Amino acid sequence: MKAVVVPEHVDGSVVVTDVLVPEVGHGQALVKLEYSGVCHTDLHVAAGDFGKVPGRVLGHEGIGIVTEVGEGVESLKPGDRVSIAWFFQGCGHCEYCTSGRETLCRTVKNAGYTVDGAMSEYALVTADYAVKVPEGLDAAQASSITCAGVTTYKATKESQVRPGQWLVAYGAGGLGNLAVQYAKKVFGAKVIAVDINDDKLKLAAETGADVTINGREVEDVPAKIREVTGGGAQAAVVTAVSKVAFNQAVESVRAGGSVVAVGLPPEKMELSIAKIVLDGIRVLGSLVGTRQDLAEAFQFGADGLVVPVVQLRKVDEAPQVFEEMGAGKITGRMVLDFASIW
Ligand SMILES: [Zn+2]
Ligand SMILES: [Zn+2]
Repeated sequence: MKAVVVPEHVDGSVVVTDVLVPEVGHGQALVKLEYSGVCHTDLHVAAGDFGKVPGRVLGHEGIGIVTEVGEGVESLKPGDRVSIAWFFQGCGHCEYCTSGRETLCRTVKNAGYTVDGAMSEYALVTADYAVKVPEGLDAAQASSITCAGVTTYKATKESQVRPGQWLVAYGAGGLGNLAVQYAKKVFGAKVIAVDINDDKLKLAAETGADVTINGREVEDVPAKIREVTGGGAQAAVVTAVSKVAFNQAVESVRAGGSVVAVGLPPEKMELSIAKIVLDGIRVLGSLVGTRQDLAEAFQFGADGLVVPVVQLRKVDEAPQVFEEMGAGKITGRMVLDFASIW
């Protein structure tokens, strides 16, 4: 079967190659992939940023149909549409797994990194960890919710923004656009999108942002936000892979506000201790989402509140898609179309 794989010589590129269809073990299900989204995290894996994994099948935004289940599987049956997510499997018994914070499990398995992922014609899932896709949700759009959607939904949840309050989305790319949509349509927030790319800001405005700010054109972004919101936003969600955005986010929120970090620039952010202490600012990190978060994020998509902007690409174009993403040329989400090679 065809698969998108990290090559022997790990250098950030990917190859489309032939691999064997995996055998289904106890507790597992075999999934025939329909769609598999390309995420920035895949670029990090391909580049060996988290450790080199030559030969690994990439992908953690997979949607497909169960064709076979192994012994002991009770939660899935052939014909079910399921997702293959970055949070592939937790240990099930540690302090995080047993307290609703399973994505922090120290022995977590991640699809497309520590285990083979979703960019192949067939892939294995651990049945109890594969979240079903609800009726009424487009399968290609669901692929985008499997990572980008649930990540921004969870981050917005963590921000504790309430209806009518202001949330700033720093970064309006594939992740940021979904942050705008969840914040606006699900949480009822007023949303400001900040980016340095006008195409991404235009898309943000079309999908729900009340205000857009181009960080290259506005000299003092936090001052502009404080002016628009009458003293600062209640929350900021930072998906931008930019230290500048993180620092601006802290200056953009009002007393009692929160800054949720999602993007992963390699640098450190600067925090004014006085601002954090005197203004009671919460700064926290948020990583993907639990199975329950994903089920909720899917349902808001099925209800039509959130509509991921996706573009289908041929599986053979995967190397090119990775290059384009590395160069920051992508608005919305690129999805590899496995359904077309069925
Ligand atoms: Zn991802
Ligand atoms: Zn665990």
